Amino acid sequence: MKTLQRFKKNEVIYPGLIARRGGFNLQNAYKLLKDIEKLHYIEHAFVINCPSCSEEHLYNSVGDVPDEFECSKCGYSNPINVFSDVLIVYKVVCE
Ligand SMILES: [Zn+2]
Repeated sequence: MKTLQRFKKNEVIYPGLIARRGGFNLQNAYKLLKDIEKLHYIEHAFVINCPSCSEEHLYNSVGDVPDEFECSKCGYSNPINVFSDVLIVYKVVCE
């Protein structure tokens, strides 16, 4: 929880970052985030980082993820493989 207090509202939390900061493995980082989600402090979301320019594209549900990704910043487009291209992240919803 201490680690998370440094996050601001609407900030996106990557489980990989939590794992590195907290010294857990990725599985435990996901578990921790799921527990915090139950407290309504964060909500899960889905992110695709553009392979070309690294721009972050955030989707609130998996249904919002398009079949074909098109980067709004650089125009890169590619069909999406939900298993390898889409990351589960958490968005901070309260201060
Ligand atoms: Zn891009």
